[in-house]
Amino acid sequence: MVNILIATGNAHKFQEIEAIMGKFADLSLNLIYLDKSYNVKIVEDRETYKENAKVKIEGYLKFLEENPELRAELNIDFIISEDSGLEVECLEGEPGLFTARYAGENASDEENIEKLLRNMTLKKECTENRSARFVCHACIYDFKKNSFDYFYGELKGLIAGEISGTKGFGYDPVFIVPQFNKTAAQIDAKEKNAISHRAAAFGKVAEAIKKKSSQF
Ligand code: IMP
Repeated sequence: MVNILIATGNAHKFQEIEAIMGKFADLSLNLIYLDKSYNVKIVEDRETYKENAKVKIEGYLKFLEENPELRAELNIDFIISEDSGLEVECLEGEPGLFTARYAGENASDEENIEKLLRNMTLKKECTENRSARFVCHACIYDFKKNSFDYFYGELKGLIAGEISGTKGFGYDPVFIVPQFNKTAAQIDAKEKNAISHRAAAFGKVAEAIKKKSSQF
């Protein structure tokens, strides 16, 4: 059994990662989630997604150092984090690194979407060009090697003029997935997890874990 701590307090992200990694049936994985009650401190203030993904792992490493009993109990082989974002072409890549806090620190998904649609209404270029992409930068920390490895995935789509659908999270209600001609909040989790930016990055993560754990 390979014990992997997923460095996120976002239950939606964890569920997606669990479903994506679960497809690799030849891997015997124990994915560990520490919910918000553990109060792991992360200061996500770096200038690239990769650095932010690394900062998340460093936050969890510090937390484990401060909680040696939990660390011994979990017996973790790897920590995996991801930093993701939405990049809209007509807004020159915004919200980008600020995706989670576009409408301000602690902004809700609804407030972030509202700001995005408002900014797109104000910009002439956005009438014709609604292209966007979700990006996902995943990072594996290998305890035995004390190493960090990075993996990338993206999903291209279009930003709708209004929200549709109730599934998923974040900007899913306005992100049209061309393969389905529906927003990511209108398709099933199974469909999203087959084509998403997270699926693309974590498919590569699973391959890397397979290789690494065969060397144990
Ligand atoms: P992070 O948790 O710092 O990586 O912030 C990423 C933000 O990007 C999230 O809070 C969401 O708003 C948005 N995001 C990332 N992935 C998705 C997705 O699959 N669907 C919708 N929004 C997403």
